[in-house]
Amino acid sequence: LFITVEGGEGVGKSTNLAFIEDTLRARGIDLLVSREPGGTPLAESIRELLLAPREELVDVTAELLLMFAARSQHLNTVILPALSRGQWVLCDRFTDATYAYQCGGRGVSTSLVRQLEDLVQGALRPDCTVLLDAPVSTGMARAQARGDLDRFEQEDLEFFERVRSAYLTMARESSGRYRVIDASASLEQVQIALAQVCDDLVAC
Ligand code: C5P
Repeated sequence: LFITVEGGEGVGKSTNLAFIEDTLRARGIDLLVSREPGGTPLAESIRELLLAPREELVDVTAELLLMFAARSQHLNTVILPALSRGQWVLCDRFTDATYAYQCGGRGVSTSLVRQLEDLVQGALRPDCTVLLDAPVSTGMARAQARGDLDRFEQEDLEFFERVRSAYLTMARESSGRYRVIDASASLEQVQIALAQVCDDLVAC
């Protein structure tokens, strides 16, 4: 299975991804964990280019192509080989992040992303996407408390509202692929819900 975890800033993605990893491993699943942008040396270099704060205005198409360049490398050298070995893959973000951040956040055309998605991925889509969802104000307060904001995290609140609503729209329109978790609940509640998702995945 190919499982992705998505969410806006400060929703507890790292902590909860580690929880999903531990839960699946404890249930005996042979799991490969990775992240986007990144997941291979080349793709991690592209990640550094993308996240570094810079004076220059970054062209949205250049940003988009860098995301998909990293994704293509990651998919073909890490994700697909793992899936064909029979491993499960748990990935911190994937193409839905592009729909949310580049399309929702920056106004890039969805049909352009769809073309790149088809080009780079063929028919491959995640089997399950866990969306950690929280109001933007809650998430931003947590992200700011953490300090060291990257280039994307310096956007304004409306940007993150658009990102959140793009994720929620995808979740609504996906036919059962999404599991939406209320990340504004206590960590304990969030992890009870995540354990249920893991049990459902292992059972199917
Ligand atoms: O997942 P993580 O928070 O580490 O992602 C790094 C940064 O990249 C985040 O600030 C996220 O907003 C941004 N990002 C993006 N577009 C993507 C994927 C990630 O703007 N497609």
